[in-house]
Amino acid sequence: MAKDEAKKKREPPTCEICGTHRRVIRKYGLNICGRCFREVAHKIGFRKYGI
Ligand SMILES: [Zn+2]
Repeated sequence: MAKDEAKKKREPPTCEICGTHRRVIRKYGLNICGRCFREVAHKIGFRKYGI
């Protein structure tokens, strides 16, 4: 059992815009939460977002 791997601190995904750790989306090279994604997606032309 290699439980030590679980101890490795992964940097928690953080929203680059508001800084929350909740529901951070790392798709598309973005690091933003669902809320901000809606705004950003609108700006960058994403009309489809199924969260
Ligand atoms: Zn955010």
